[in-house]
Amino acid sequence: MSEKIYIFDTTLRDGEQAPGFSMNIEEKLILAHQLEKLGVDIIEAGFPSASEGDYEAVRRVSQEVQTPEVCALARTRKEDIERALEALEPAQNPRLHIFIATSDLHLEYKLRMTRQQVIESVLSALEFAKKYIDNIEFSCEDASRSDPDFLVQVITEAVKAGAKVINIPDTVGYTLPFEFESLIKYIKEKTPGIEQVILSVHCHNDLGLAVANSLAGIRAGARQVECTINGIGERAGNAAMEEIVMAINTRKDLLDYHTDIVTEQIYPTSRLLRKITGLVIPPNKAIVGANAFSHEAGIHQDGVLKHRLTYEIMTPEKVGIPSSRLVLGKHSGRHAFRKRLEELGFELSDEELEQAFRRFKELADKKKEVFDEDLEVLVMDEILKIPKKYQLRYINVTSGTEVMPTASVQMEIDGVLVRDAEFGDGPVDAAFKTIAKLTGTKSRLLLYSVNAITGGTDAQGEVRVRIEEEGIEVTGFGAHTDIIVASALAYIDALNRLEYRKKNLSQLRRQAP
Ligand SMILES: [Zn+2]
Repeated sequence: MSEKIYIFDTTLRDGEQAPGFSMNIEEKLILAHQLEKLGVDIIEAGFPSASEGDYEAVRRVSQEVQTPEVCALARTRKEDIERALEALEPAQNPRLHIFIATSDLHLEYKLRMTRQQVIESVLSALEFAKKYIDNIEFSCEDASRSDPDFLVQVITEAVKAGAKVINIPDTVGYTLPFEFESLIKYIKEKTPGIEQVILSVHCHNDLGLAVANSLAGIRAGARQVECTINGIGERAGNAAMEEIVMAINTRKDLLDYHTDIVTEQIYPTSRLLRKITGLVIPPNKAIVGANAFSHEAGIHQDGVLKHRLTYEIMTPEKVGIPSSRLVLGKHSGRHAFRKRLEELGFELSDEELEQAFRRFKELADKKKEVFDEDLEVLVMDEILKIPKKYQLRYINVTSGTEVMPTASVQMEIDGVLVRDAEFGDGPVDAAFKTIAKLTGTKSRLLLYSVNAITGGTDAQGEVRVRIEEEGIEVTGFGAHTDIIVASALAYIDALNRLEYRKKNLSQLRRQAP
């Protein structure tokens, strides 16, 4: 039997803390449930001392997730550990993750501590935490730039003090695969008692080597990898889970390991994260990019048709990419609707399904074809129960080479019909200005992008709009054959999400001690 590699998912912690990927609690919970379905072993749900939101997220994920371990991050200080343990209290399988930097650079400029002080603080942290929890992971931040002998010294103490997992992060994405392999081997050889713990690696992608370095770590003896869905995370991101898992899966001939990941759930998870964060996945992204399994070159297409293995090292089905692009319409029944949602990774209660189906029918009456993207927006709204404070009733835009772009818009705001008109630099600008005037929003537009969902000039356009107000960022989506209408819908969707999130945040603040 091959050895198991534990998959430690940190999408909700390391992934989420990067700008543009922030998620609210409801979104984190939806993702946590999907991660459970995906079969990850550990979910790192947050850093409770960092913010009220992180604390609450760890607590809620702890309450709702059954099988995976739920992990919370803490510095070595006592208050951090107490806060993390408190957040983990409802978890069935809690794990505490304590970290401190070990590189001289961090010691001197960030921590302003001596090596001896670092060791003392590790020991007192572990001694304190051990009174309350046995399952403790310890990380040496910036390990790849630390003096290997000091690293061994710190790890030796941490193992003696009872850490069960020792994590070696390449925090700044600096190491090279053969160098990292040697480092892990060195730690394995030199640390007394290391065979009693699980060695882990945590790699960042600054040089595009996070996955290669993680695999090198596994070869050297690491049995846990820390990674994120779609590789999101600080700067260039973390090691992408789907790439590590599929490398192990596809190259069994050279890598005698396995993971418990249900690979068919990879694509639905990736899509769900994309929908939640508004992240754009480059088409050439390995495993989950739109082109990852498409064969354009004639000679390749010919080969694949004759025998798939000529140009395909794994099948799209294996990672859960639906084999056909099924389009639903107004004649599609409840059964087809449910089946498609399941393929997209959504599991709804009967009541939610009934609601979503009703809204689907309304949508199908207006639109000839309902695409996966429409279904995702519809279902996310249903699950998150985002109230529609603002609704578009009517939009008319004039533009061209000889006229000043003008938009007139009618909206329903809290059930009241309002209308207005504005000029703009272009038709989208005019539409947005009118909507901004009608809603009185103070939000700032951060991003606007248009994508064709289908081919041809009659393509359905999908517009994404990212807006920010008082530090809260949200993404809105809109799809329509007319991109001006799609733009207005996306902007209004974003405004509804912003309202929803503002309300949610103030509730959270009221609950906090
Ligand atoms: Zn990291």
